[in-house]
Amino acid sequence: MALLTFLCAVAAALVVRGPGAVVGVVVLAAVFVPLERCVALHRIRVLRRGLLADLTHLLLNATIVAVLTIVGVVVSTAPLWWVRAVDVEGRLPAPASVALAVVLVLVAQYWAHRFTHQVPALWRFHAVHHSIEEMDWVASARLHPLDQAITQTFTAMPLVLLGYRPGAVAGLTVAVALLAIFQHANVRLRFPGLRWVVNTPEWHHWHHARDPEARDRNFGLPVVDLAFGTAYLPRGRRARSFGTDEPVPAAGYVAQLVYPFRPPHERPLA
Ligand SMILES: [Zn+2]
Repeated sequence: MALLTFLCAVAAALVVRGPGAVVGVVVLAAVFVPLERCVALHRIRVLRRGLLADLTHLLLNATIVAVLTIVGVVVSTAPLWWVRAVDVEGRLPAPASVALAVVLVLVAQYWAHRFTHQVPALWRFHAVHHSIEEMDWVASARLHPLDQAITQTFTAMPLVLLGYRPGAVAGLTVAVALLAIFQHANVRLRFPGLRWVVNTPEWHHWHHARDPEARDRNFGLPVVDLAFGTAYLPRGRRARSFGTDEPVPAAGYVAQLVYPFRPPHERPLA
């Protein structure tokens, strides 16, 4: 069943997004599979449990999320059309405009992610992502499309309201997506000079850790978590085990999509 769903996802991606969608996954695999073999943090089989479901997320979700995000941004910003007349991007010098966009995206994304942990109705969807127990680059794609669309809508809203062009918003979204894949990778590299600058795997793995002291930490970029008091990066230790107590199915793309909509007493044990 998982193989059939995956093959359908490949066909759908080829039809909707063209060969580039599949080539992109192959290129990512060509970079990250050898990298994770050479500098692995944990022993994980390449053909691990849930791999086909995660690859299906990787192939399908981008299109679903893009449609949902466009709808979400249009609906949420339409009542605030009068703010859009400000046109900050057009009025500021380019360097100041870019710097402001980056700050807005980082802060909005931090709070969007934090809300998905702290609002129970949102956590049901975000729990799908935190069901990852074998952390690797493909696992980064295991996100419920509604969870991802809500986060992206919330992140894009400030830029849209301040008059930034769609190209600027899309460019930052791509950069964030590539960083998301890297920060989940199963690599033991530490990047000493960058530990508190960007989301390294060491930093983001703690966000997924089962350790009680790491719960609800490291929602965004280190400097943003430091500003809001949620940073956690102990020296000399690494996160060892990942996952959540929520009984999200460990495999099965459709089962993971349906999971948040099921009443608690009907949710399957993982
Ligand atoms: Zn999270």
